[in-house]
Amino acid sequence: MPSPHRISSRIAAIAESATLKVDAKAKALKAAGRPVISYAAGEPDFATPAHIVEAASAAVLDPKNYRYTPAAGLPELREAIAAKTLRDSGLAVPASQVIVTNGGKQAVYQAFATLLDDGDEALLPAPYWTTYPEAIKLAGGVPVEVFAGAGQEYKVTVEQLEAARTERTKLLVFVSPSNPTGAVYTPAETEAIGRWALEHGVWVVSDEIYQNLTYDGVTAVSIVQAVPELAAQTILVNGVAKTYAMTGWRVGWMIGPADAIAGAANLQSHLSSNVSNVSQRAAIAALTGPQESASVMRDAFDRRRRLIVAGLSAIDGVICPTPHGAFYVYPDVRGLLGRSWGGVTPTTTLELADLILEQAEVAVVPGEAFGPSGYLRLSYALGDDDLLEGVARLQRLFA
Ligand code: GLU
Repeated sequence: MPSPHRISSRIAAIAESATLKVDAKAKALKAAGRPVISYAAGEPDFATPAHIVEAASAAVLDPKNYRYTPAAGLPELREAIAAKTLRDSGLAVPASQVIVTNGGKQAVYQAFATLLDDGDEALLPAPYWTTYPEAIKLAGGVPVEVFAGAGQEYKVTVEQLEAARTERTKLLVFVSPSNPTGAVYTPAETEAIGRWALEHGVWVVSDEIYQNLTYDGVTAVSIVQAVPELAAQTILVNGVAKTYAMTGWRVGWMIGPADAIAGAANLQSHLSSNVSNVSQRAAIAALTGPQESASVMRDAFDRRRRLIVAGLSAIDGVICPTPHGAFYVYPDVRGLLGRSWGGVTPTTTLELADLILEQAEVAVVPGEAFGPSGYLRLSYALGDDDLLEGVARLQRLFA
């Protein structure tokens, strides 16, 4: 642990991103020749669709992309994002209220930095994506976890949120479909939470990055569509990474009321300036071009979702709810703890995840990265053969 006198206490308090850490470890082991199967990072295995790559290729050759462009994004992309938001989130918003960010992650950080003063509380439904609490703390805020377990499909209720609300509550983090659980709030649940936030003047940071990845005929209704008046106190976060297999291109965005977006744009103008113009051109092609390839990928995730739920559910001690969105399963594995596997007796899911990597050469992310111990996150955005082989290894390990 670095001395707080050498680096700031704010930065010393941040933990490394657990999802990226497990992913890097799995990739390093693979590079060293170990046959590791990784369910770690939420990263589609597909290549970015060809028409998007071609748009980027053309952009590389066009000198107009060689210079600084507006920090908040290319006007054409901001227009395309506004049109997509009207289509998928039911929110009519001018392009001036859109900021293009370096992936959804920068939008998440900027949203918290824009809204939170020191000591402000942010209600964080748990299990949560590993980056939210760190980004809240970096912005001076205090994450207040509100846990919802498998028994309530990993979805918090208005009653739970109300019980956690104090005078310092500034915002709620709302994520549907959820990373890490894949849970999708119903339109009625979304509306109830939106009305509660409206009534109490609580801002909502709604991360919609998995909005286009839902299954079983389920739709993830945007909280601003469910409660239109809430738009004046909501920041939407989204991006092209998950829907279009573009994780490495780093294009996300944030949308919100004019004052919040003006503040966030000022922040970005000092922090990072414009996102790579080539990536922005690729994102324009993704949002305005043919959508068939996105739908083919979604169908593949749907098939893999069924395979992995069936395979994990066959293991004694594992309870695997069927997720309706994103590309993660979040099994409750408390039934595997305290038992001996290959001479090791894990008592936490951190230890269990280590054991699985050591003994089965399978990478998973332990629940501790997302909230309480007792759960594992597996991304099923990997190829069918690997997915089945990994599940077979887990079944053998825990037979
Ligand atoms: N969001 C993905 C995940 O949860 C990518 C890794 C990250 O940025 O955390 O795995």
